[in-house]
Amino acid sequence: MADSQVEEVKSKVDIVSIIGEHVQLTKAGSNFRGLCPFHSEKSPSFMVSEELQIYKCFGCGEGGDVFTFLEKYEGMEFPEALKYLADIAGVKLVSGSYDNSSEKETLFEINNLAAKFYNFLLVSHPIGKAALNYLLDERKINLDTIKIFNIGFAPANKNVLSDFLTKKKKISLKEIEKAGLVSLKGKGVYDRFNGRVIFPISDQRGNVIALAGRQLPPGNPRSGKYINSPETPIYHKSSSLYGINITKEFIKKEGFAVVVEGEIDLIASFQIDIKNAVAIKGSAFTDGQARLLSRYTKEVVMALDSDFAGVAASIRGIKILEDAGFNVRVAKLGKYKDPDEVAKANPEFYKEKISNAVPIWDFIIDSTIAKFDKEEAAGKKNISSELTPILAGINNKIVQEHYINKLAKLLEASVEAVASEVEKVEVPHREETKESEKKVITKASREETLITLILKVKPSLLKDKKIVDLIKTPVLIRLIEEFDGDPKKLPKELFDKFGELTLSPELEDASDLKKEINNIYRLLALDATLDKYKKTKDKKASLIYQKQHKDFDSGEFERIIS
Ligand SMILES: [Zn+2]
Repeated sequence: MADSQVEEVKSKVDIVSIIGEHVQLTKAGSNFRGLCPFHSEKSPSFMVSEELQIYKCFGCGEGGDVFTFLEKYEGMEFPEALKYLADIAGVKLVSGSYDNSSEKETLFEINNLAAKFYNFLLVSHPIGKAALNYLLDERKINLDTIKIFNIGFAPANKNVLSDFLTKKKKISLKEIEKAGLVSLKGKGVYDRFNGRVIFPISDQRGNVIALAGRQLPPGNPRSGKYINSPETPIYHKSSSLYGINITKEFIKKEGFAVVVEGEIDLIASFQIDIKNAVAIKGSAFTDGQARLLSRYTKEVVMALDSDFAGVAASIRGIKILEDAGFNVRVAKLGKYKDPDEVAKANPEFYKEKISNAVPIWDFIIDSTIAKFDKEEAAGKKNISSELTPILAGINNKIVQEHYINKLAKLLEASVEAVASEVEKVEVPHREETKESEKKVITKASREETLITLILKVKPSLLKDKKIVDLIKTPVLIRLIEEFDGDPKKLPKELFDKFGELTLSPELEDASDLKKEINNIYRLLALDATLDKYKKTKDKKASLIYQKQHKDFDSGEFERIIS
């Protein structure tokens, strides 16, 4: 019963429209293609098949059906993905089939309860009064904002939350620990957060995945100013962005995201109507954060603390963004030390700096030059040794040249001198080169290409003995044997292979598929003869090989398809 419902849901939704909501897809032959949402790439190798209802990335290997996509992309678990798709398909799920909640959903629920509880203590309970006054009067965060961001207060008491969750909500300590909210030491139970203002961190769908706690002044210097939930099954710091659940719609509407460091920076910006922001909770962007943000925009304006350009980690973060195809600019906050300060002191200035954000490399060059005396030889040397590694890391050669010229002009040096300094820098190996590495064409991949082309052009050829004899790869032999025209009837592993072959993006571009089939057939046939010759050392085989080769060159070799 349950399985047939899964099939029913699957048959009523279209993978192209579901994935199309998140990834921009364009038609490519009989398939669709787009930029892979699972790895960073600049040219599309992510393919979706309407016919087979599957997707496959030829860059990172990620692939599957519409359920797999939602599980991987949205972090849903199967029951959640099923519910989500059943809603779209208008299928009523039989209760009891798949509705037992998963571990993740339980952890979302616990974090959600904790956030609400702390919010209640801040807003409606006498114990939160001082904290509330601090937020309202000193941080200038108003009640509406406190509500929108679900801000809370954890009193300085080691068991307030754990008592509430265990006694009132009947949740076990083990689960609360798993959710990252208590630590169990020996026989003691300690709420992770106490005496702190609480900022719940949510995923893009609004599930509370973690909490961040900030000390109230004067604070206790022995514990950190900020603490966060630890990594849990639902919280991975490096792939979450604070505020995204609330600000993603504004980011889409504005066409860019303002990137700030901390929660307070984001909230202060939000309050003065800069709502298209996210906080990275640190000074460096990570790969996972770039991927998450790229769902909504590829335009970024950094509004970070004024000294961020001097931090090596920030530069790495910017390179991650650039490699992922983002256009990065910087809002120069002038004398203000961070977005929180400028939002309060001079909101108009802040907004103007966002509208007139400068390209990231100009910003880095200008701020480095301002640190040293560029009239002196020593100053020039310092500037050059800070900037050349950065310029060397710019991928795009045209952009790089532009900045080499700029730096040369600023230092009153020759372009050649600056360029040669940049060239001396060893650029660390980049992962991306893997993708562009030329594919080695092995005999197996030649066989695969042949089968793929035949599947696209003339499947009946698969039964041709000339073809069958040339194929040596076991999985392809089985595919030839079992394929009867309907891929959906194939056993799972052959169906997967079929999908992988027919979705291959390169072959969509082959202008003359029939010619291509003939070419590959010839190459394989030549190979086969050569193999035979090597094995037997038979003179005759050698002669056949030579003749085939000659025929091949003169175009006389037997045509398999015309
Ligand atoms: Zn990929």
